[in-house]
Amino acid sequence: MSYQVPKPFAWNFCGTCGKTLESIHDGQSIQPYCTDCRRFYYRNPVPAACCFVARGHDELLFTQRAVEPCKGEWTLPGGFIELGETAEEAALRELREETNLRGSQVELLGVSTKQSPHAGAVMVLGFVVHQWEGEEVMRPDTDALDLRFYSRHERPTMPFSVHRELLAAYDARFSD
Ligand SMILES: [Zn+2]
Repeated sequence: MSYQVPKPFAWNFCGTCGKTLESIHDGQSIQPYCTDCRRFYYRNPVPAACCFVARGHDELLFTQRAVEPCKGEWTLPGGFIELGETAEEAALRELREETNLRGSQVELLGVSTKQSPHAGAVMVLGFVVHQWEGEEVMRPDTDALDLRFYSRHERPTMPFSVHRELLAAYDARFSD
């Protein structure tokens, strides 16, 4: 079954009053604008978080994606940040949802942004999870088909450049 890439999300109507938006110059560029509400509608990168969970000094946790895009490929645990939570909370929530592991003590490793046909653009914050527990009850759930710790020389190639970039930052920081 082929996967249909959705069209980039675009503002056509005012989310408040429903009026058709016009293209108005905001001082820097042309943007969608509601002339009744006097409001511009901007499109921004969508923030997401991912987790680096190490076992020993050589292994990292990867999850096999259960959803499109790139279903079946291996990547890092993570997902989109929701309203009402911090990026750190989002990283640990996604880790818990996908793997059942309970993490704590997260540290920001870096940020990677990429233009995306699905979301317009994504901005991924990579977190190192310094403490975690629950390996005896680890199981793939929600967005994950399978889970595996890979040693450095066995690692799968990840489909998303944001994750590859963050992994390079992780290796630069933690390789011995
Ligand atoms: Zn309006």
